[in-house]
Amino acid sequence: MTKLAVPILSDSHCHLDFDDFKPDLESVIDRARRSGVIHMLTVCTRMSCFTSVRNVAENFSHVYCSVGSHPSQIFEDTSISTKKIVALAYSCNKVVAIGECGLDYFHSNIPRDKQVDSFHAHITAAQETGMPIIIHTRNSYEETATILEKEYANKSFSGVIHCFSGPHDMAMRMLDIGLYLSLSGIITFKKSHYLRDIVANLPINRLLIETDAPFISPSPNRGKRNEPAYIVHINKALAEAKGIREEESALITTQNFLHLFNKVPAYKAV
Ligand SMILES: [Zn+2]
Ligand SMILES: [Zn+2]
Repeated sequence: MTKLAVPILSDSHCHLDFDDFKPDLESVIDRARRSGVIHMLTVCTRMSCFTSVRNVAENFSHVYCSVGSHPSQIFEDTSISTKKIVALAYSCNKVVAIGECGLDYFHSNIPRDKQVDSFHAHITAAQETGMPIIIHTRNSYEETATILEKEYANKSFSGVIHCFSGPHDMAMRMLDIGLYLSLSGIITFKKSHYLRDIVANLPINRLLIETDAPFISPSPNRGKRNEPAYIVHINKALAEAKGIREEESALITTQNFLHLFNKVPAYKAV
């Protein structure tokens, strides 16, 4: 078996349209490419920002994007509809997913009923288009899981729980309806033993990795702006938790990425 010079990595969740990357986006993407990152999925958080998200994907060949509205954007995105999401999902072949959407009960001032309505509109868009859904859940895993299970029983869809950080019960419920789980820099933190223990027992063919850049920089880059090149640290922590080589976990999570985001063409080395 030939040893790869650099691993083949896929960052399943980052926010390259954010102002944090305005000054040096080209170098950020160049550093990611040199670190072996062959796919970056830049995730839409607000409908009104979709054009800039799509522009990033159109300008860089290794970048893909999604369309959707983060639950914390309820006040900005006041009229979310399945129709609007579906129309934008078909507006460009670089759009490969719906989201991020879901429930965020961390901040108590965001009306929960509106979050639930928006979440349903996104799930329906995923069911209609067949595109996978990217799910954000914070302080709301029970409610999130219940909605997903009910919707899945109506009509199946595929998707991923992004920035998965437990608990084990949530992992089991989501795996049961065929969803993937994406691991962020949290798995690299010293205190995250509980998460590494959960991950050790999860099927690797259902795991993805993500930076969530510019947020959640992994160790040893904590405190700095995060960027897709740092996915190597997350991959390393995953490989250690699973007791496999880094090249293997990189390859498997990339295969999983292509399986889930099946509009992304398979990578051809050039
Ligand atoms: Zn999120
Ligand atoms: Zn995000």
